Amino acid sequence: MPADLEITSHWIKSKRGPKNKVDFRRPYSFYVEEEKGINGAISTVATIFLSNKECPFQCLMCDLWKNTTDEPVQAGDIPYQVKWALNRLPKAQTIKLYNSGNFFDVNAIPEEDYGAIAEMIKDFDRVIVESHPKLINTLTFKFQEMLSPTLEIAMGLETVHPGVLEKLNKKMTLGDFEKAVNILNGHNISTRAFILLKPPFLNESEGVMWAKRSIEFAFNTGVKCCVVIPTRYGNGALEHLGKLGHFCPPIISSLENVLDYGIALEAGNVFADLWDIELFSDCSKCLEKRKERLGQMNHYQYILPKIGCECQEEV
Ligand code: SF4
Ligand SMILES: [Zn+2]
Repeated sequence: MPADLEITSHWIKSKRGPKNKVDFRRPYSFYVEEEKGINGAISTVATIFLSNKECPFQCLMCDLWKNTTDEPVQAGDIPYQVKWALNRLPKAQTIKLYNSGNFFDVNAIPEEDYGAIAEMIKDFDRVIVESHPKLINTLTFKFQEMLSPTLEIAMGLETVHPGVLEKLNKKMTLGDFEKAVNILNGHNISTRAFILLKPPFLNESEGVMWAKRSIEFAFNTGVKCCVVIPTRYGNGALEHLGKLGHFCPPIISSLENVLDYGIALEAGNVFADLWDIELFSDCSKCLEKRKERLGQMNHYQYILPKIGCECQEEV
């Protein structure tokens, strides 16, 4: 761990490129997919990526700021975006309202819009929103009271490596995360944890080991589902750390290794994030087969036979 490298919000922001242009009245993406639910049944899941004001945190690995605005949206914009997407999506049982930040940040999602959002999603079984553990507050329970679907909250645990977690500039301790999970469980709100595979400052085998430890920690605190995200380039800061030798993205076999481990725990659902998965392999012989295997394992939550190929040794 480089003691001389002082990672601050200012430093992270100074490495950024430009944002994408997003529209206050349009979600920047939306789609429907399938996912195994907490009860074991496969559910159709509509995900809407809402356009709104940038998150107030600046985590070292985050590139979600790219699709955010500098100014807050107006009251009414978010319900308009939700409706716009729902009118174009097939029917689904679960809805994810992901806002590149924190749902209970009033600069992102105006409180006065909660009622309209709740009304629009009343036919879903479950709604999943994102939040930083420190932004779980009375608004969380206010929103829950308005909902017909059950509420689930996705929070970034990132890593339980103490030195790396601090360097990620998330401004959160493991105690903060655990406290938030306990409070949410006490209100019958289930949680899912985002876990980074191989964040900066870890080599491949450390990256795998700490991702496994992070999954264990999450389940031990009462999280019901873990999503393993391979850390990737793209936000400027990681490119800079890459040049200094402090970051290199994981290889696909590390993701396979961690997913196998997480599913074998049988402590809750464990999913591998397959977004841009081609970034983590340069073997055209096995990539599609590996992707297919990971997708099937996400779907059914059991371990399939490994894909043999001489390109990558497992760590
Ligand atoms: S809290 Fe989440 S959205 Fe905000 S900077 Fe960190 S990772 Fe990104
Ligand atoms: Zn291969």
